[in-house]
Amino acid sequence: MSLASNTASTGVHTFHGSSLELKNLTMAYGDIEVLRNVSLNVAPGTTTCIIGPSGSGKSTLLRGVNRLHEPKSGDVLLAGESALMVKPDILRARIGMVFQHFNLFPDHTALDNVALALWSVKGMSKTAARERARRSLAEVGLAERAEHRPRDLSGGQQQRVAIARALAMEPEVMLFDEATSALDPELVKGVLNLMAGLGRRGMTMLVVTHEMGFARKVADQVVFMDEGEVVESGTPTELFDNPQSKRLQRFLSEVL
Ligand code: ADP
Ligand code: MG
Repeated sequence: MSLASNTASTGVHTFHGSSLELKNLTMAYGDIEVLRNVSLNVAPGTTTCIIGPSGSGKSTLLRGVNRLHEPKSGDVLLAGESALMVKPDILRARIGMVFQHFNLFPDHTALDNVALALWSVKGMSKTAARERARRSLAEVGLAERAEHRPRDLSGGQQQRVAIARALAMEPEVMLFDEATSALDPELVKGVLNLMAGLGRRGMTMLVVTHEMGFARKVADQVVFMDEGEVVESGTPTELFDNPQSKRLQRFLSEVL
């Protein structure tokens, strides 16, 4: 799939997200288990939002999916195939991840921040990588900012560059870990709208967020985690309007 595959006719690119399944995923730091038997299905082209208190294991779960931290047991299936059998750098090209802090290279332009992994990981020529990076920046509305360095961009624009960098790898799934938590309030909405648009256009998305409005409006599925476990999952209406567990009721009363 080329990033520009169907932009010519419609002006809007659609994605072909893969399914993502977590099966009894258990993760630990040393002897301490912080994720226990988490199972989760994300259908192709759907958005799942993970909510839950700080320390409940949300980031650890994402880190297990793309193996920034190796699971202790259980499995992660990407398009039905065990991600644990895929080489980590290949896996990370297939699963894009966006962090709270954008982790851009300060001395490179936006364009080269996006292009770097294309030539260093994907082995594209610099010319082809820059061409694809330009298209990817255009996807996130930053075509005009390609030559800017991170310090000359707003936080929201820097996060868009980070999203463009992930998209340029043509991922099958996108992971977001509190992608808007470090942004000034007036910049949050633009990034959330961009994320919602990716979901509408067929990307498979696993989104850890404190933005309950986003989860309610955009998610196909919401997962509530507490103390390393999935306590409840379902549609936004089920979780937000009819929470079953005391733990979710308490959490919602604190955040809403
Ligand atoms: P969340 O993202 O929901 O806030 P985390 O996945 O970051 O939760 O953390 C889950 C638990 O794992 C917490 O108790 C946290 O202190 C612990 N933890 C996270 N990262 C590490 C680490 N690198 N080493 C040891 N413990 C960690
Ligand atoms: Mg976290």
